[in-house]
Parts: sequence; structure tokens; C-alpha cells
Amino acid sequence: MIKLHDKYFKPFLSEAQILAAVKSVAQKVAADYKDETPVFVGVLNGCFMFVADFLKEYQHPCEVSFIKLSSYQGLTSTGIVETLLDPPDNLEGKSVIILEDIIDSGRTLKELIHLFNNTNVKEYKIASLFYKSEVYNGEYAIDYIGIDIPDKFIVGYGLDYDELGRNLREVYQLNEKHMINLVLFGKPGAGKGTQAEFLKDQYNLKHISTGDVFRYNIKNGTELGNLAKSYMDKGDLVPDEVTIKMLQDEVEKHTDASGFIFDGFPRTVAQAKALDEFLKTKEMRIDATLALDADDEVLIQRLLERGKVSGRTDDQDESKIRNRFEEYNQKTAPLQAYYETQGKYHSVNGIGAIEDITRRLGKVIEEL
Ligand code: AMP
Repeated sequence: MIKLHDKYFKPFLSEAQILAAVKSVAQKVAADYKDETPVFVGVLNGCFMFVADFLKEYQHPCEVSFIKLSSYQGLTSTGIVETLLDPPDNLEGKSVIILEDIIDSGRTLKELIHLFNNTNVKEYKIASLFYKSEVYNGEYAIDYIGIDIPDKFIVGYGLDYDELGRNLREVYQLNEKHMINLVLFGKPGAGKGTQAEFLKDQYNLKHISTGDVFRYNIKNGTELGNLAKSYMDKGDLVPDEVTIKMLQDEVEKHTDASGFIFDGFPRTVAQAKALDEFLKTKEMRIDATLALDADDEVLIQRLLERGKVSGRTDDQDESKIRNRFEEYNQKTAPLQAYYETQGKYHSVNGIGAIEDITRRLGKVIEEL
């Protein structure tokens, strides 16, 4: 994903796909014009990369010229097409092939047709690298087309969003749904892990559970695992600097994710602050903290039941569980105020059927 001005764009066409399309347009034009000397007229600004690559593929006699039209401002076509650079005046009797980077509504094309109808060329044809058949008004025939693309705003390979992105070798598409990053908040046993499993599929998010990462490290006997084990065995929190570093590494491993669910992190105000600062460096942010509310006695019973099945030693001993709750009350509970001040705290009843709780969380997410 890339960011231009205030918008995010995701990869859409690779350089290889684009160059293959350019080559196919050049071959089709060559089949019709290689025995004469056509004039290729590029439509500035967006066409410059297309014209350059097209000419590298078109190795027959030809002339090149440019005209300049302007219709886009930001993401939407203004409907007003201005001619900023007129067609050359030595086109008499020549075959002209107009090279457009993209044809969408057809407004610019109408202006082009108007311009060339007023010249005394032998004939003129239209070649467009990209073409949005879904929205094209169909008024004029387009003679050569590279790739038919969906009606999404694109940048790259000469095309811009408010002048940025023209130098990208690939084409990117506007990412209309902004990334969502969620914190799942709640005491041990509140159902954070269970709910994260459903939400990650529903919203295509990457689930990071710091508890799971620690357990994975313990199982594999890593240095981090050995360090964390001594704290986890007692039901204490692992020190902030260790946990924060580990969390950052996990996020870095998944930079292509369309969002994250943080489960079991942050658990201290220092972690929450570190998370905000870290996300800021990635132009990301927490969108919401979803708290699963449940009564302590219900949670203790749930954890003891879970301990019988999962084998987690910290779930099998009531005094360790109570210590985890103590850690929560002292160190994690203050995060409620931290996120409330940011207007991001949403609490959801965590008692009931799993699917009902997923629905409650989904309702909050949909309204974000
Ligand atoms: P969990 O699986 O989320 O219940 O976490 C199990 C244990 O891992 C906790 O009791 C802590 O010892 C440790 N742990 C998990 N996440 C964190 C965190 N964010 N900060 C400190 N310790 C953590």
C-alpha cells in the first residue's frame, strides 16, 4: 500500500502487465501502419510513459508529437476539458494515431475528436492504454485498446493524483476502505482470542496475540521465551520493553496486512503510548478499542475450564489467575481512561453465546 497526499493506493497492475499491454497495442498499430509514416500524438500529461514505451516497441518509421488537455482535478473529472497545447500544424495529409493513457467517461475523447475534425489529416485513430468500458459513453469507436480496467481511480505509470504518483512504474488503485486497527481489551478469559479468530476473517485483519507469541517462543525454547516464562508462570506481566519490541517485530512482519487486531496488547499505559507512537511512524493508528465486559467470578470459572483442555498452567491455578486479575486491575484497567480520552473506547457485553458477542463487536466496527 502507498500513500499519496491523504489517500491510500494498493497495487493493481505490475510493470510487466503494463509493458505487455503496451507491446500488444504497438503490434496492432504496426500491423496497420508499418508501411507508411504515421504521426503519433500523445495526450499530455498522463501519456508520457505510455508514449515512451510504445515507441520502444514500435520500430518502424514514424513521427511523434504532443497535445495537452486537462480535465481531472483530484479524484473526479471536472467535466471541463481545456486545450493547453494545440495539435501541431504540419499534419496535412498524414495518418495520425492519438495515444491516450486512459479513456473513462469519454469527455476528453470528445474534445480530441473535435480538435482533429478541424484539421486536414488523412485519417486519425485512437489508441488508449487503459480503458474503462463500464463508464465509457460509447460515443466514438476506440481503435486500439491495451487493458480494460474497472471503474476505480488509478495512479502510476504517468497517471497522477493531484500531481503525485506519475513516476511509479506500476499502477495502483485507490484503496477506498481505509485500514482498520483494533485493540481487543478485557480481562483474562474475556474471550479476546476467540472473538479475534472470527473478526480477523470477517474483516481480513491480521491477529496478533502477544500471549500466543510468548507461548510460541517458550515452546521453541528461544531466549525471548525463556525470559517471558519466568513472569508468565507467576501470572505477572512481562516487562514493557521486551513486549513492545516483540509487538513491533510482529507488525513489521505483516506490512501488507489490511489492518490488525491487537489481542492482549497493550496491557499498560506505557505499551499503549508506545503503540500509538509506533503506528504513527507507519502512518497507521488505532481506530477502536473494543472491551469485552464480564464478571470476575464467571471469568475464573471459564479460565479453570480452559486450563483443563488447553494445558495452560497459568489457567489451572486459581491463585495465579487471581494474580493476573490483580495485574489487570493495577496496570491494564487505566487504559480504559487512556482510550476514552481519545474517544476510541467501546465496551461490549462479553457474556452470552460466542456468535452473539461477535455480532455485538461487528456492530461497533461497522459504525466506525
Ligand atoms: P494471554 O494469553 O494474553 O492471557 O497472556 C498470557 C501471559 O503472557 C500474561 O499473563 C503475561 O505474562 C504475558 N503477556 C501477554 N501479553 C502481554 C503484554 N502485553 N504485556 C506483558 N505481558 C504480557
